[in-house]
Amino acid sequence: MSDAKRPCAECNNVAHCDMLERCIKNDPAPKTFDNYTRLSTPEGTHTEACPVCYADPEIWQYIAKPGEVAQKVVMCSHGDEIGPHDALAGGGCPLYMPPQSFYRPTIREAVKHWNEYAKALNKLRRDNGWQRARVLRNEA
Ligand SMILES: [Zn+2]
Repeated sequence: MSDAKRPCAECNNVAHCDMLERCIKNDPAPKTFDNYTRLSTPEGTHTEACPVCYADPEIWQYIAKPGEVAQKVVMCSHGDEIGPHDALAGGGCPLYMPPQSFYRPTIREAVKHWNEYAKALNKLRRDNGWQRARVLRNEA
């Protein structure tokens, strides 16, 4: 009998226990590390609505690896598909997983970044809307 076929000494579950080098029945899968932990919004903290889809944002803590420094990030809460399904893009609002610049050392700084970005994007949309409308008016 080869080592690979040796049944688990604890539960006789051959393949899986040998493959993982632990007894599945008595030693279930180790708890995976959660990179993201949702935090409650501190009292008195204002977060702008998502400037892309207007959903409520959420505050999360991100830790890349166990023992590493925690970062805070404000993220859009809309994770459902918008429009055409694209498995590669992952779906959801573009700010559901915002870019690296949104990751900050403290909640206060993450909220500040989110709010400033939201206000800037809302202003940009208004300005561009105005430009677009003017072009249309001139062409008429
Ligand atoms: Zn959004």
